Amino acid sequence: MGDAPSSQDPSLKVLSDEYYDSKLSILAKNRKPDGIRSVLHLEQTPGIISLLAGKPHPSTFPFTSLSFTIRDPIDPAQETAVQLTQEELETALQYSAGQGILPLLEWAYGLQEITQNRKKGEGWKISFGNGSQDLIYKAVTALVNPGDSVLVEVPVYAGVSPMFQTIDCDIIEVEVDADGILSSDIRKTLENWPEGKPKPKVLYTVPYGGNPSGSTATLARRLEILELARVHDFIILEDDPYHYLYYGPTPRPPSYFALEKDSIEPGRVVRFDSLSKILSAGMRVGFVSGPAKLVQAMDAHSTVANLQPNTLAMVLTLAVMTRWGYDGFLKHTERVAQFYKAKRDVFQAAMVRHLSGLAEWSVPEAGMFMWFKLNLGDGPGDSDALIRSKAFERGVLALPGTAFYPNKRTSAYVRASFSMLGEDEVDEALRRLKEAIIQARGG
Ligand code: PMP
Repeated sequence: MGDAPSSQDPSLKVLSDEYYDSKLSILAKNRKPDGIRSVLHLEQTPGIISLLAGKPHPSTFPFTSLSFTIRDPIDPAQETAVQLTQEELETALQYSAGQGILPLLEWAYGLQEITQNRKKGEGWKISFGNGSQDLIYKAVTALVNPGDSVLVEVPVYAGVSPMFQTIDCDIIEVEVDADGILSSDIRKTLENWPEGKPKPKVLYTVPYGGNPSGSTATLARRLEILELARVHDFIILEDDPYHYLYYGPTPRPPSYFALEKDSIEPGRVVRFDSLSKILSAGMRVGFVSGPAKLVQAMDAHSTVANLQPNTLAMVLTLAVMTRWGYDGFLKHTERVAQFYKAKRDVFQAAMVRHLSGLAEWSVPEAGMFMWFKLNLGDGPGDSDALIRSKAFERGVLALPGTAFYPNKRTSAYVRASFSMLGEDEVDEALRRLKEAIIQARGG
């Protein structure tokens, strides 16, 4: 896939459909197109009278209009009223194509061109899902068979561990530090890979503001990972829900999806965008951008699992995006990023006030998590009992680090989310945590 090779670029290789077929899981290979959905697009044929689809008639629905107000992206105190047209309302209440409604797909292609420097029509494709979680799961099941090896960054987003665990694959944990995923560890692992054993098929990583690590991969790490993916032939699952919550130094390092465009063999990145942190988490809107063959395999999963993403949520999203334009959308996301930066600063100051000497941490440059290691005395330490009992008894809740290691291990780390609390609550939470740590240290 990827860019059509240009005459100036004779070394550029294009990965074939057969290549992607060879990557698909048995489950994905066995999924055959559904007899109804595979012909539905024919309804768009000019002059056709369709007796095909089992669509409910909109006049039988109780909703007759839908209006709401949205914030101005520049001055959020200003609100604009939005009234869906009858056509928009009918679309919102009806079934749609499995990959999402066309105008929202067009909006997403335009966004990827602006933010990822990737143009539509270059062999990759977008599909929407019910949040990015839905799509990550579909990608994992489209690629991974039981027994396959997979590379997973650790600590890892706890929501993906069960995807790999339930497939019963061989999870190879790759450590993350303050500069992102340790590409050198992947290199070492793969250079010493047992002969005859199939190499890992995929790598799962979060490029900005990792959950829970808070870390953002440097450009050097990203480039090395892309090179390793080419040499050792694995697909990068780039899960990027915190892309627009980046508040670190500018310019930020480009995403894997953006960077691979200039690699000599693009087509190994499947990228997940989420609107949960910038539009609404409850609407469940996310989209995947990746090699057309792989995304089509995910669409086939949608056909059997849930037919399509939620049309109402897509129409509402589109209504906001068309009113804002790309400029407004990016202004809005910048404001959201600055909101979390201020939260991060408040949390960081309280960490210094209460936990200096009791914990160690790096300051996140994106996202909404602080990941810190408790100094519990000698040995590797385990935060589990302290967080579950001593801290909870004192009235503070956080997540012990062990939740973020799919192969199960003890951890002295703790994940704290700083997205919701005000300054006083943060101060009190960390004061309580400090007491719990001091008690655990026996002092
Ligand atoms: N990936 C990561 C790293 C996340 O933190 C989350 C949400 N917490 C998701 C995926 C799921 O996001 P969505 O709401 O788009 O499904």
